[in-house]
Amino acid sequence: MRLHYPHLFTPLDLGYTTLKNRVLMGSMHTGLEDNPEDYDKLAAYFAERARGDGPSLIVTGGISPNVAGGISASSGVLNAAEIVPHHQKITDAVHRENGKICMQILHTGRYGYHDGIVSASSIKAPINQYIPRALNEDEIQKEIDDFVNCAVLAKAANYDGVEIMASEGYFINQFLSQRTNKRQDRWGGCFENRMRLAVEIVENTRKAVGSDFIIIFRLSLMDLVEGGCCWEEVAKLAQAVEAVGVSIINSGIGWHEARIPTIVTSVPAAAFTRASKKLKESVSIPVIATNRINNPQIAEEILQRNDSDMISMARPFLADPHWVQKARENKSDEINTCIACNQACLDQIFSGKTTSCLVNPRAARETELNYHVTDRPKKIAVIGAGPAGLSVSTIAALRGHKVSLFERSSDLGGQFQMAQRIPGKADFEETLRYYRKMIEKHKVVLHMDREITANELESMIHGSEYDEVVVSTGVQPRSIDIEGINHRSVLTYPEVLLQDKQVGKRVAIIGAGGIGFDMATFLLAHKEDAELDQWYRQWGIDPKLESPGSLIPAQVKPPKRHITLLQRKSTKPGKTLGKTTGWVHKLHLEKYNVRMLSDVIYDRIDDLGLHILVGGKPELVEVDNIIICAGQVSNDSITTSTTLGGKRSSFHMIGGVALATELDAHRAILQGAELAAKL
Ligand code: NAP
Ligand code: SF4
Repeated sequence: MRLHYPHLFTPLDLGYTTLKNRVLMGSMHTGLEDNPEDYDKLAAYFAERARGDGPSLIVTGGISPNVAGGISASSGVLNAAEIVPHHQKITDAVHRENGKICMQILHTGRYGYHDGIVSASSIKAPINQYIPRALNEDEIQKEIDDFVNCAVLAKAANYDGVEIMASEGYFINQFLSQRTNKRQDRWGGCFENRMRLAVEIVENTRKAVGSDFIIIFRLSLMDLVEGGCCWEEVAKLAQAVEAVGVSIINSGIGWHEARIPTIVTSVPAAAFTRASKKLKESVSIPVIATNRINNPQIAEEILQRNDSDMISMARPFLADPHWVQKARENKSDEINTCIACNQACLDQIFSGKTTSCLVNPRAARETELNYHVTDRPKKIAVIGAGPAGLSVSTIAALRGHKVSLFERSSDLGGQFQMAQRIPGKADFEETLRYYRKMIEKHKVVLHMDREITANELESMIHGSEYDEVVVSTGVQPRSIDIEGINHRSVLTYPEVLLQDKQVGKRVAIIGAGGIGFDMATFLLAHKEDAELDQWYRQWGIDPKLESPGSLIPAQVKPPKRHITLLQRKSTKPGKTLGKTTGWVHKLHLEKYNVRMLSDVIYDRIDDLGLHILVGGKPELVEVDNIIICAGQVSNDSITTSTTLGGKRSSFHMIGGVALATELDAHRAILQGAELAAKL
């Protein structure tokens, strides 16, 4: 078979070991690392990803070398021999599948959420309430010893190597940068002093673990913060760690406190490979490219251009554990693509929950949620082909059930049809492409443009044609009651997004939830915003990567429209957006001078515009159009009059039709998967 991605599948010889392909599964904290009782689950999670033709190398989520370095006081630590057997569960599971795995050593420094945090200097991070204590010289030496001890224990646990985390603004980065290192001893001041910690950690680790153990160094190529390192320093550090024994350099892009997006959906594909390309000029060891690479074609092109030697992907392996195998078998249309939404992975982690994936609810639940082939195939009707309906139909069909899926419109996807039209959210179409392929592969019988009436639903439930009936008819926009709501200037969000209704220059958006923010983004977008150079200009990123932190003044185009975004609540608009993505949406709209109002009472709409009271004071918002983005209600017209009788157990309602409030695709797809797993 001719490989579609030959560069991706070229082995990489490290001398003492060979990596079978150019794909690294990057570190992703799942939350399972923190409790040894969860290590069986963690082993199953990694084994599933190593199985078959998996990535040539996997990196675990961050494990701290000591308690001070943990993200919380109870984070996973490897500092004693008695912890080693827990890690052996992971390495055994991966090695049984012929995979290779490195453990990431992560010291969070001033990013830890606990009282015992330490750093180069006592400077609070803008994203953390805890203040770090500055280490004295003896304590710095002890930190280096702890890194080395951690790597030695990782080797005892049979890991194939370690990744030393020196990017994203964590502990080692905090020593490297003048922003966070104000020391005046031999660990601060000139760059030789600031990089001493990093170099000594690598040098001592290499001496302790021997020459046949992989050491990946995750180096911050672009800090994206003021006072960050300049390129000369980045290159100098890369050369220094190569000289003392690093095997591979992985790229880190942006500190966590950076106010420039680096991984969300709106970041253009492969946005930072110019950094790995530039670094390759300075070192002779392999360099890995990362961030916003989620499909094999993009990965292949990066390698073909020699912009890097390997590709790291983290979230794409949550979305599809078999990404590599599918690419190798030229079945990339079967890949369940990560859409960079962060909704079920990073947002969950930062809320103290175990990670999972919006498009793959099995992620990190491999021992609990399984799609076994059934020995009692049933006939199942599913009504509504939005995220919930697509999830339940395709998984039930994969299990061997005979599924008929009914959709009243001519397109699959429900709310995803609108999401994919938002600038920066085009990847949502990948989820629909995946479901279309799964429908075909698992032979779901699709009935498009077919509206099921309440009477037909009644017959389906009580007749003999179907064993199970699932209603997943989703939601419809909430109608709101304001004087003048039928004025010609008023539009609903589906009218704008799906029916291309014309919108004027001055706009009020009623409702500042996810869709209100998306609507403002849609109305402000310039065609060229998605082009990489324009995106760099907009966010103030130095295209030459030379300036400190790779930052230059941002250049924002004049706004296409004057937008006012309104809500009745007195909280700040945007509070309900995703934990790790909301700030990007807010910052983006602020750049375009969107006026955001809280504590609003809607009075009336007339030819002059929208009359409101803000904090009790009357105001007229003069606009050409008012767009209603006031949430949704259940699309339950066919279920309200349905009589279930004894058929209750074979009738199911999932997704937005069951609960429209706080509607989200994560819950819809999860409910579909959980139901399909037990039908
Ligand atoms: P939403 O988040 O519930 O927001 C609805 C907005 O409408 C709120 O601002 C609410 O604020 C306002 N509202 C509610 N009832 C109203 C009424 N009777 N009159 C006037 N205003 C009213 O709903 P959404 O924006 O449609 O988003 C739905 C879901 O989609 C979200 O929960 C999210 O999961 C998902 N989503 C997320 C994103 C994202 O995070 N970027 C983007 C798109 C969609 P007040 O009640 O204060 O006026
Ligand atoms: Fe990707 Fe979203 Fe899944 Fe996270 S939740 S892995 S961002 S698709």
